[in-house]
Parts: sequence; structure tokens; C-alpha cells
Amino acid sequence: MSTNIENALNDSRVFATYNRFPLTIVKGKRSYVWDEKGNQYLDYTSGIATCNLGHVPDNVKEQVEEQLNTLWHCSNLYKIPPQEKLASLLVKHSCGDYVFFCNSGAEANEAAIKLARRYSQKNKGTDRYEIVTFKQSFHGRTLATLSATGQEKIQQGFEPLLTGFRYLPFNDFEALDQLVTEKTCAVMLELVQGEGGVVPAEVEWVKKVATICKEHELLLIIDEIQTGMGRTGTLFAYEQFDIQPDIISVAKGLGSGFPIGTMIANEKAASGFDAGSHGSTFGGNPLAATAGIATVEHISQGSFLNHVKEQSDYFHKGLEKLQKEFPSIEEIRGKGLLKGIVMKEHKALEVVEKARAKNVLLLLAGQDVVRILPPLTTNKMEIDLCLETLRNVLKSI
Ligand SMILES: *Cc1c(COP(=O)(O)O)cnc(C)c1O
Repeated sequence: MSTNIENALNDSRVFATYNRFPLTIVKGKRSYVWDEKGNQYLDYTSGIATCNLGHVPDNVKEQVEEQLNTLWHCSNLYKIPPQEKLASLLVKHSCGDYVFFCNSGAEANEAAIKLARRYSQKNKGTDRYEIVTFKQSFHGRTLATLSATGQEKIQQGFEPLLTGFRYLPFNDFEALDQLVTEKTCAVMLELVQGEGGVVPAEVEWVKKVATICKEHELLLIIDEIQTGMGRTGTLFAYEQFDIQPDIISVAKGLGSGFPIGTMIANEKAASGFDAGSHGSTFGGNPLAATAGIATVEHISQGSFLNHVKEQSDYFHKGLEKLQKEFPSIEEIRGKGLLKGIVMKEHKALEVVEKARAKNVLLLLAGQDVVRILPPLTTNKMEIDLCLETLRNVLKSI
């Protein structure tokens, strides 16, 4: 690496808003990444559920390369063919009817919050604007989405927050008695709380939430930013909960690493927006939308989703075996290839650091949970490598 780049890395002028791990990744292919010294790592973070097809996937690369030679940007004042195609694909594979394009997860949730408020104002008057979310949720870092997030540490120092959010305990049947007030217009939730500790929602509880939403004409918003794009073994996690959300937010894995987010809504909810209600300069940019098309076409195939389920079951069995061997593990949880190892005595960070020293990259979700997000293209050999590394790490803890 050139000394200029080395100097820049040592004397970083980038805002210190991230607790960065001491590792610089300069190259990636499939399930592996390389640092600047050429060391190879098994990347079981997938850029936090973003590179679901692994790094630099060939089919996405080919389609984006073609688009790169055709058109990079076009204002949303004109019709953009790759956007139209991606919208049709997402509608075909979901219970939604219309798609709004933006650039990130927070923006997708921001759009969902705006749509829910505007739909409610149009149909129920100005006093119904409150959105119920859940404790330990994570919905993003913009002011509206951090206000929607049920975690004080993310809100600290940014008060006054946006009004109109109320937080209930997650997976709590009794608390659902307090779900609806005369102000409530929508409910927003994750089906596996990712950042909040890899906590799957209980199917019956989610169904109850959906039933209450129907009875009281509330919009049901499902944040699929981490659980979507095949991560849990179906294209969207909601398919496993026997519900029909009104609004779905998707981002992370949608562009295989290209920044793109979307809000998908059914016809009823979508009627809340008119021309001029919302917009974005880059949203659904031709390059990002093309990456989205290639990604969705690949992930939505039944054979691919079967592969995800098989790897997920195999990995889960291996992790449960580790739990039996090591009493320092409290619990194994998660859904599909979104796995959490709950550690006793706040040992999660130690596991992540020691695994990195053995060339396997893992993530945290809070101080007690090791979060593992393999690329969905991973295989049994790589899973065995991860399990064997974890076994060696756990022996030393
Ligand atoms: C990552 C994430 C977000 C925020 O997405 P950004 O692209 O970082 O804005 C929102 N909700 C969930 C569930 C997420 O995992």
C-alpha cells in the first residue's frame, strides 16, 4: 500500500463516530476479505447483512458493469427503467403494490413513518399520528428513526426527540392491551431484533399484533432492513409469520453493497402519498437499482432459498453442539443465517476479538450477544471453519 494511504489511516480525519475494530479491509471475494497486509479473513458479518451474496458477486458485477457504460444517474423527474424493473420484482415477490426508492435503511423507515402519518391524516384527521414501536428495537439514526428506536443510548443528547412514538415491551402479550389509543395510527417492528440482541419475535405474538392492527385500522410496518433479502430463509421474514404487512422497509442486502433502500407499501397505505409528498435525489439511482435487480433475481429463486435454509440448519446444529460443550454460552438464538450466541458474563466482545485474531470476523449485538451474519452463499466447509474457530476461542475463555 502507498505510504500516503498508510499515513491517512494512522491520522484519520474521519469523524470518530464508530468504535472501529483494528482492521483495515481492502479487498473481498465471496465469503472472504483481505487486509492491507494480505491476511485473509472469513467474513461472517457480510458488511452487517449487506453483502448477502458474498463480496463482489459475479452476476451483480456483470449487470452493474453494463449499466456503468450506459447511464449513472438520472433525476427522479424522469422514468428510470432499472427502477421500474426492480419495483415490479419486489411487488411480484411481496404482498406490496408500490415501491418508493431511497438510499439507506433509515431513509426507508423515514419514508414509512411519513407515509403512515400522512395516510392517517388523510383518512382519520390530524389527531391520529402516534406510531407504536418496541423496546430494544433499532430503526435508524436520523432524528425521526432514532426517535422511533426503543433504545435510550441511541437517543441520548439529541433531545427533543420527534414526538409521536410510544414504546412497548417486545414479545409481551399483556402489553398489547396498551397498543391502541385514540392517537395511534401505526405499529412498527422488526421480526428479529438485530442490533437489539438477535431476538426473534414470537409468531403468535406477531399474529396478535397484526390482528389488533386490522381491528383498529392501524398500519402494520415491518422493518425488514436486516431480516429481508433471504437472510432468514425466505425472501422476507414476514412470510414465516402468516401476516400481511401494509408497509415493509428494506435496505442493507438489497443492493449487494450498493447503497439502496426501499419502502414497499400495499395499495391502501400507498394512497397516503401524492405527487410532491416525498422524494430523493439519488433514490433508485440506475446503478444501485441495477444491483438491486441482479440481487433480487438471484435471492428469490427457490433453490437459492433452500440452500440458505440448509446452511442455516447445519450451522444451528453446530452452534447447539458448542453450547453443550461450553457452559459460558447461555443461549443460541436467531432465525435463518442471522444467528446470536448469548454469552454469560459479558464475554461477547472477547469472543469477537479472539475470533478475529484467528481470522474469522463476527459482530456484536450489545455486550452479551455475538451476532453472526454469514453471506447466504456460504457452505458447510466455511461453516465448519467458523465452528472450529469458535471452539478454539471458547476453550480459552
Ligand atoms: C441497519 C438497520 C437500520 C438502519 O439502516 P441504515 O442503512 O444504517 O440507515 C434500520 N433498521 C434495522 C432493523 C437495521 O438493521
